[in-house]
Amino acid sequence: MSEAASAMPLDILIVGAGFAGLYMLHKARRQGLNARVIEAAPSVGGTWYHNRYPGARVDIQSMEYSYGFDEALQQDWHWSERYASQPELLRYANHVADRFALRDGIQLCTRIAAAHFDEEHKCWQVRAATGEAWSARFLVMASGPLSSPNRPDFDGLQDFSGPVMHTADWPHEPVDFSGQRVAVVGTGSSAVQAIPLIAQQARELIVFQRTAAYAAPAHNGPLDADFEATIKRDYAGFRARNRRMHGGFSAALPPNPVSALAVSDEERKSAFESRWRIGGFALLGAFNDLLLNERSNALAAQFVRNKIAAIVEDPATARLLQPTHTLGCKRLCVDSGYYATFNRPNVRLVDISTQPIERFTPTGLKTGAREFDFDALVLATGFDAMTGTLMRLDLRGRGGLTIQHKWHAGPLNYLGLGIAGFPNLFNIAGPGSTSAFTNIIVAIEQHVDWIAECIAHLDAQGLATIEPSEAAETTWTEHVNAAARRTVFLSCNSWYLGANIPGKPRMFMPLASGFPQYAQRCAEVARKGYEGFVLA
Ligand code: NAP
Repeated sequence: MSEAASAMPLDILIVGAGFAGLYMLHKARRQGLNARVIEAAPSVGGTWYHNRYPGARVDIQSMEYSYGFDEALQQDWHWSERYASQPELLRYANHVADRFALRDGIQLCTRIAAAHFDEEHKCWQVRAATGEAWSARFLVMASGPLSSPNRPDFDGLQDFSGPVMHTADWPHEPVDFSGQRVAVVGTGSSAVQAIPLIAQQARELIVFQRTAAYAAPAHNGPLDADFEATIKRDYAGFRARNRRMHGGFSAALPPNPVSALAVSDEERKSAFESRWRIGGFALLGAFNDLLLNERSNALAAQFVRNKIAAIVEDPATARLLQPTHTLGCKRLCVDSGYYATFNRPNVRLVDISTQPIERFTPTGLKTGAREFDFDALVLATGFDAMTGTLMRLDLRGRGGLTIQHKWHAGPLNYLGLGIAGFPNLFNIAGPGSTSAFTNIIVAIEQHVDWIAECIAHLDAQGLATIEPSEAAETTWTEHVNAAARRTVFLSCNSWYLGANIPGKPRMFMPLASGFPQYAQRCAEVARKGYEGFVLA
């Protein structure tokens, strides 16, 4: 146990130094709380530290994907591009750590292995893999919804003689694919960003696709100075307007308030075209029911398939690239030249939907009757999303209840923030909250503010613990399911459902009812004396 730990328990132990952990630490300190961040990586930045594959960048515009809690910070910081790249986002995280003097509260290179709730002392006993230990009144999981890479259990992968890289755990030394034959497995957001750049460098690129992806063009470029100046003239107002949006962003381009079924073919095409020209998620707002109504969705999906057919020269490749599932059911990818990359002579698309990867060999892989040889392998196979990081911890609540037992059928929780049986534990941007359906920084700020206010309330009242009631948790879980049932999100095998991980329970994890309604509910719960929680 560290000296600091044995001397005095912390008020808050925060797991993770990404955007959530940094702001939680800052907020806690401003409130006079003794907080400490424990981070496994050797740097702050979370997602933006690990996901450093070629082309990694944010899919929400930089002016929106940034903290709004400090006016001077948002005025001073300048983004160079419309969609910031991973290195710039990492610089931003480091800038925030320095600017708010957070570094002395962050312990890097330390992986939390266990956290047990000590009922007698009403605090968390937390232990790192190194054996170092802390006790803390509150445990805040700021470990991110997409932080445990999914490494499928491919037969023979250990026999492959070349380098194997995962997009979510990319090497820190430069990777040079020049002259190499490279294979990419996966075609989600990470692959869609990486493939165009790998293709420019590699001698040959083979993309193994299980499910085709919908991608809308980012139209990325240098940030327009007039646009930046306009926002900065009233940044607070811009943030406030965004917080009133379903996804916590894009107030400047609200969804068209009509159904795709209520307009003529010509009007519909023109709406899709204009949103496609704007780029990114704008397409999903071309009408107000694209994610709610299968028929409206099918029209938008066909629009994207037509775009793919127009971009990709080889008709057979174009057909393979055209997704057949519901648009947006898996997160829409935002790309820079993804489909056009398949016009390059050095790029080949291999459909593994019916003949999956059977095994890896020392020189490549086998699918059914076919064998492929390559020099380097990129796994762009995503994450054990939303629950993976907590489920890998030895996390025990009241009476030794393990998180693995508690969540064996799916991540039960209340407001996404608390878990019955796990007092004084808060989870930021995890299952049960709007999480990845929201501009995640907006979601993080709302959660951190709520948690800080909750702790202030407990302290003011002289209360030691807070924990959701099982009844509130059951009702909330049904609310999350019901919100998903009103959308098209249940119609495909996405990570939102846990369907990308063999054996993972299928439960729709993020809350689809929209950020404003969710934030209002959280505020109401607090106003009503933390309704649904048991305070002791
Ligand atoms: P992902 O969307 O889950 O994509 C993983 C890909 O790997 C899918 O194409 C999947 O196919 C494939 N795959 C998984 N297991 C496989 C197996 N055993 N055999 C063959 N193929 C397999 O993961 P991701 O691309 O890393 O993105 C995850 C999320 O991170 C995104 O949805 C987004 O929220 C976030 N992200 C955002 C950005 C951004 O633009 N800012 C960039 C990257 C990631 P199936 O579809 O058939 O499962």
